[in-house]
Amino acid sequence: MSTGICYIVGAGPGDPGLITVKGLACLRRAEVVFHDHLVSAEILAQIPPAAERIYVGKPHSERTIPQEELCRLLCEAVRAGRIVVRLKGGDPFVLGRGGEEALALHEAGLPFEIVPGVTSAIAAAAYAGIPVTHRLLSPAVTLVTGHETGDKEGPQVDWRALGRQHHTLCIYMGMKHLDYICAELIAGGRAPSEPAAIVQWATLPCQRQVIGTLEDLPALAERASIGPPAIIIVGPVVSLSESCQWLLRTSP
Ligand code: SAH
Repeated sequence: MSTGICYIVGAGPGDPGLITVKGLACLRRAEVVFHDHLVSAEILAQIPPAAERIYVGKPHSERTIPQEELCRLLCEAVRAGRIVVRLKGGDPFVLGRGGEEALALHEAGLPFEIVPGVTSAIAAAAYAGIPVTHRLLSPAVTLVTGHETGDKEGPQVDWRALGRQHHTLCIYMGMKHLDYICAELIAGGRAPSEPAAIVQWATLPCQRQVIGTLEDLPALAERASIGPPAIIIVGPVVSLSESCQWLLRTSP
């Protein structure tokens, strides 16, 4: 029996042109693919017809395979000698539990490779004309989850501490707690007038965005009915979005 392997592949943010050459090569060789809900149909179309496709769902929803079960299935498929691709939206190691899957394979003594992807925050910024760093405006960028607000295990996000900084913030999974996040950043020291943006369905033909300030962002999002999946970008660099905009699309 041939030796199996698991490629943990980042599919990129959605635009099918944004998967890497290496990621696509892995996908085309796959015998079984475990994929997330945020991987676009054009990328899924690259999976060989003979390969088995397993939809593992969306975190925190009912149709999802629990993480432990998924790790067990990945190990089982590799042990059976199959070429497995674990295809994840964006980059597998950025807020995507790829680390938990790699650890499970490592602990089982099974071979795996990580194929990075373009993470959605960086892509959202690029497709909204926002350079995440800029020599004169921001020397750093923080990628942070907005999903957690205090009652989970593990380290917590300190929004007020992030409010004290002046560099760029890219917030994933933050729409549910948008009001709270904006208020905490202001309480921590960011100006209510700090430029801020939301980019929904970044890089896809249905991409939409709103640009405003920390203070008015929740109201703008509500007025435009912008919800997940979206990236919230905060910081002076957002002020460049009009000049650096290149997509021929208008904001809602
Ligand atoms: N590993 C992924 C992140 C998974 S968490 C990555 O590197 O991008 C899921 C969150 O990613 C969503 O809630 C949303 O905040 C963000 N996201 C993923 N795809 C997106 C897209 N096309 N546009 C905007 N946000 C996106």
